[in-house]
Amino acid sequence: MRFEIVTIFPEFFTGFFANGILSRALAKGLVEIGVHDLRGFTHDRHRTVDDRPFGGGEGMVLKPEPLAEAFAAMGIAPKAERAPQEQDAEPATPPHSAEVDSTGPVADCIGLETTTMRPHVVLMSAQGRPFSQAIARELAARERVVLVCGRYEGIDERINELYCDEEISIGDYVLSGGELAAAVLIDAAMRLIPGVLGNQASGEFESFGVPDAEIATNDAFPRSQHGAGGLLDYPHYTRPAEFGGLKAPEVLLNGDHLQIRRWRREQQLRKTLAYRPDLLERAELSKEDRKILEGLRSKGL
Ligand code: SAH
Repeated sequence: MRFEIVTIFPEFFTGFFANGILSRALAKGLVEIGVHDLRGFTHDRHRTVDDRPFGGGEGMVLKPEPLAEAFAAMGIAPKAERAPQEQDAEPATPPHSAEVDSTGPVADCIGLETTTMRPHVVLMSAQGRPFSQAIARELAARERVVLVCGRYEGIDERINELYCDEEISIGDYVLSGGELAAAVLIDAAMRLIPGVLGNQASGEFESFGVPDAEIATNDAFPRSQHGAGGLLDYPHYTRPAEFGGLKAPEVLLNGDHLQIRRWRREQQLRKTLAYRPDLLERAELSKEDRKILEGLRSKGL
């Protein structure tokens, strides 16, 4: 799968690509990432990307022309002009491919050939759909996701209207730019792409994970694990068995997978009740879960 980022700070992403799971996924070719420098699509001496807002007021706005040129160089037409086959998930030949000049601004894109894959264009925005594990899963299932990073007061709204398929926010706070938010989306989505995590099950048995019923049965996994089913993860321990005067819970050391599973489920419910009771309303809870919850509540936990 491919992510492409449109930004005025391409160097922001250098360290992000160089480390951990993402760098391995890139090396294995499971993920491709391109960074398009918006200033490469300006034509004045100062490489101006912003201008004053119509109507007055605070700050500056990212001008529409460099953004539109960036999209054209990426082979992305305005939504209304995209061919029907570009609107669904199938790979398609973009109508603008003939206009792409590989020696032109697209050369500013780090490490990527131009593509004919259908794009899903996301505007990073504090006003967008709140990002979640469910949206990370949606993005991971797409073949090409383009992330537009705003700066200043944001981008000219007409670019949003003409090119962007949706707006996504990473939380109810205002960042100074979309770069951090784009990195958050890429990090959360790429680890859900098959083959990226060393142990594919890790992406299922963790906070906000899918319920057990949706996890493919695989005898290789001890059933001491439990699909989170929208709950938070349980606590993890490793050696030594005693540290800082605290012992790792006895139940985890005895190898009884049924008991371990029960303990972990109780911990998930306890943690979710304490920190995110809202998640309990949407989670798939078994009869046993409800009993555990009742117990926790009656103890005032
Ligand atoms: N005027 C805007 C804030 C602009 S902040 C407003 O009040 O909503 C500059 C840029 O940072 C935005 O264009 C967006 O790309 C990015 N950004 C800021 N907060 C964000 C958030 N919570 N999630 C995603 N992107 C965000």
